[in-house]
Amino acid sequence: MKIIVAGGDGFCGWPTALYLSKQGHDVAIVDSMVRREMDNELHSNSLTPIASLEERVAKWKELTGNDIRTYEGDLTHYDFLREVLKQEMPDAFVHFAEQRSAPYSMIDREHAVYTQTNNVAGTLNVLYGIKEFVPDCHLIKLGTMGEYGTPNIPIEEGYIEIEHKGRKDVLPYPKQPGSFYHLSKVHDSHNMTFACKIWGIRATDLNQGVVYGLETDETKMDPVLTNRLDYDGVFGTALNRFIIQSAIGHDITVYGKGGQTRGFLNIEDTVRCIEIAAENPADQGEFRVFNQFTEEFSVGELAEKVQKVAQEEGCETTIANLDNPRVELEAHFFQAENTKLRDLGLEPHLLDDDVIRAIFRTVVRHKDRVIKDNVLPQVSWR
Ligand code: NAD
Repeated sequence: MKIIVAGGDGFCGWPTALYLSKQGHDVAIVDSMVRREMDNELHSNSLTPIASLEERVAKWKELTGNDIRTYEGDLTHYDFLREVLKQEMPDAFVHFAEQRSAPYSMIDREHAVYTQTNNVAGTLNVLYGIKEFVPDCHLIKLGTMGEYGTPNIPIEEGYIEIEHKGRKDVLPYPKQPGSFYHLSKVHDSHNMTFACKIWGIRATDLNQGVVYGLETDETKMDPVLTNRLDYDGVFGTALNRFIIQSAIGHDITVYGKGGQTRGFLNIEDTVRCIEIAAENPADQGEFRVFNQFTEEFSVGELAEKVQKVAQEEGCETTIANLDNPRVELEAHFFQAENTKLRDLGLEPHLLDDDVIRAIFRTVVRHKDRVIKDNVLPQVSWR
């Protein structure tokens, strides 16, 4: 298949592009490089040193003989996107290319407006581009489990059957997101639902959980192919951030009581889920939703798992319960469906001590790169 991976220079996109290329697909990456600029804005960095996109794809070509074409540009610029689509004529468009940090979106008005403009306008352009140039192309769009929030009933995969005043219908599952970033994803989902309905576009919304891990078989092939790893208070996500904190002797920072429960998955499963979605496209006009996570953990539970492994590796680590910078429930019901990807063949890599240990040991090798001032959360929802 011809597959565009938008956001293919990022944490999920880069290993996905390599994996799809390894599986024999013809891959092109689109990325504006804005994530690298954000590192400069925040005076932060990837824990792992990352090569430029040009160096990365050149190394991949050298090692495998496979070409990955690259297009540097912004999805919010329709003239650019139109040219890429005309040139590539993709069978599938994998869309990772969004501002993906909740704290970044909550810094101030400017960052909230940027996040929603970048994400919502970018996706709207992709929908128009598909309609105009490649109406058969399957849009595989990354959403987030955070779109649902934490309702007091089980979370379904996208839709729920409701009986109301004696009548029944299957309706989009209610969304109660917890940041302007998560709201941007909800707005995207609505725009996609509508575009599928009116234009017959085929789309899959992957409501992804929190991704942990770093390397895949492909990124491990050479240091130039190494993936980025975020640890700071803005882009670092639970588990990866905890492991890095413990490796540098920092307290593990749990926000509030730590009872916040979320869906998680290994980066090795992210790449496989994209492949599964691509190989089993949604029908024409279908807006399909998969919940893309493999296990549920509370933040407190993860902190304890990391503390145990860190101790075994010789790092004494304390768990610190910080005042929660976010506005969210700290103890709540959480039970979410995630059977659709498994039914299509996903065999999850589950989290155990060995997985944490492997990430820990990689992290230790790069711990001198950590900018300690960036570790604590500095963005408040209030
Ligand atoms: P990332 O920031 O590492 O990568 C995103 C990439 O998209 C970056 O390389 C960035 O430069 C690019 N980009 C952003 N806006 C763009 C635009 N307008 N035009 C072109 N390129 C643009 O993020 P990630 O962690 O790889 O996340 C990828 C996707 O998966 C996001 O949509 C995110 O919301 C979703 N997701 C991620 C996680 C996670 O734990 N990382 C969890 C759930 C969902």
